[in-house]
Amino acid sequence: MLYIDGEWQGSSSGRSFETINPATGEAIGDVAGGTQHDAAVAIESAVTAFKGWSRLTSFQRSECLHRAYTLMIERKEALAVLMTEEQGKPLRAARNEVQYAADFFLWYAEEAKRVYGDILPAPRADQRFLVLHQPVGVVGAITPWNYPVSMVTRKVAPALAAGCTIVVKPAEQTPLCAIEVFNVLHDAGIPAGVANLITTDNPAPVGEEFVTNSKVSKITFTGSTEVGTMLAAKAASNMKRLSLELGGHAPFIVFPDADPEYAAKGASLVKFLNTGQACISPNRIYVHKSISGAFLTVLEQRVSRLRAGNGLDEQTTIGPLVDAAAVAKVDRQVTDAVAKGARLRTGGRRLVEDGLDRGFFYAPTVLSGVTSDMDVYHNETFGPVAPVIEFDDEDDVLAMANQSHYGLAAYVYTQNLGRAMRMFEGLDYGIIGINDINPTAAAAPFGGMKHSGIGREGGREGIHEYLETKLGGFSI
Ligand code: NAP
Repeated sequence: MLYIDGEWQGSSSGRSFETINPATGEAIGDVAGGTQHDAAVAIESAVTAFKGWSRLTSFQRSECLHRAYTLMIERKEALAVLMTEEQGKPLRAARNEVQYAADFFLWYAEEAKRVYGDILPAPRADQRFLVLHQPVGVVGAITPWNYPVSMVTRKVAPALAAGCTIVVKPAEQTPLCAIEVFNVLHDAGIPAGVANLITTDNPAPVGEEFVTNSKVSKITFTGSTEVGTMLAAKAASNMKRLSLELGGHAPFIVFPDADPEYAAKGASLVKFLNTGQACISPNRIYVHKSISGAFLTVLEQRVSRLRAGNGLDEQTTIGPLVDAAAVAKVDRQVTDAVAKGARLRTGGRRLVEDGLDRGFFYAPTVLSGVTSDMDVYHNETFGPVAPVIEFDDEDDVLAMANQSHYGLAAYVYTQNLGRAMRMFEGLDYGIIGINDINPTAAAAPFGGMKHSGIGREGGREGIHEYLETKLGGFSI
């Protein structure tokens, strides 16, 4: 269903599309296939709603976001079950994501009231300078399927807190989760037109409307670097404000002074989270050669114990990949690495036993002896493969880690404070986990350098992506 001007409705074309459970291959819903025309109507509704919404006090907008937070927490279990069915992650991980998603409503309900201006010293005695922040206007937002609830709230919450109105286009694999987020917004009493939803399996025309419609002031996109770059080029020629959260290829560095078992535990947890389908997933695990044996033994043991299956089964610790193309891509990378000399320590095949062939399952995989001529070393895997590379020297590993056009997340294991600080300062990445595998929260700025994106979501920084800065010079 589309949600435009506070009403649920079908597509203007009458078309709809199916959404599939990736664990079973079964259709679980039929969703309106929105069109460019529908996107234009939603933008018009957001333009009209902007006048009222942007003039509310921040306290009034904050109340709406507080209600959304409370409702999302009340509906946590139902939302988590739906997410597991539609996206595949184990139920426990889905519950965590709903909490993370709701946290953005709570955080920005508070940040709405902290959009302070400034009074600056002026060069003339008869002059005063005032700085004011105002909402940018109507926002066009595009979100991915891997975190189908939190990627929507990470954009909607700061946009609404700032006083903007928004039109969201969610990924075609996870529209049902987006619909439930919008049910929360509707029931929280967000006024008609303030937040609109266009579900579609034909994203290009909707994206085209976002980047060309003169009434859209800002584009915010989370997804692949390829699509983000294409949208950014079009948005630039129409002078839109832009935020991009794109792909990653995270290094995970284990120094000889770290505990190899603890580091292997961390690697097994963060690498296989969401079946490796996370933009901050480690893609190059550099381990000092003096401890690589101990590290690999523990990593291999932990990874072979992961239990693949339908995420609704509480015993499941790793879910399916999103679709058949994702399985094929992972298998291609593993085959390429093994052909070029990597050692396959566990996994390395599609899982088909016990009914898993109905879904898109790939065995959690560990590769050692990975080298820079392999595809997995450069290209985002977005799947359950842990490629391990030995290193010898701190400067060398820092240079290798930075040799990527991505710059989203990096992880470092060390007990040496000086080394931890050198890595924190030297890594060209937006998010650095030092002995920490989850450096994310609604209160923390999330985003990447280089081809991993522009701007930050979450934290104090997140709301400023939706604000203009206006200077007033007063002669008195
Ligand atoms: P994707 O293929 O780029 O899709 C992302 C979104 O863009 C989807 O809603 C998609 O719609 C839409 N889209 C595709 N082509 C479009 C077009 N021509 N015009 C307008 N919209 C278009 O990426 P994905 O496979 O869903 O997500 C995985 C990627 O996202 C990975 O690279 C991952 O690293 C990145 N990611 C980054 C972050 C971050 O915060 N940095 C977070 C999560 C994911 P359809 O679904 O209909 O194709």
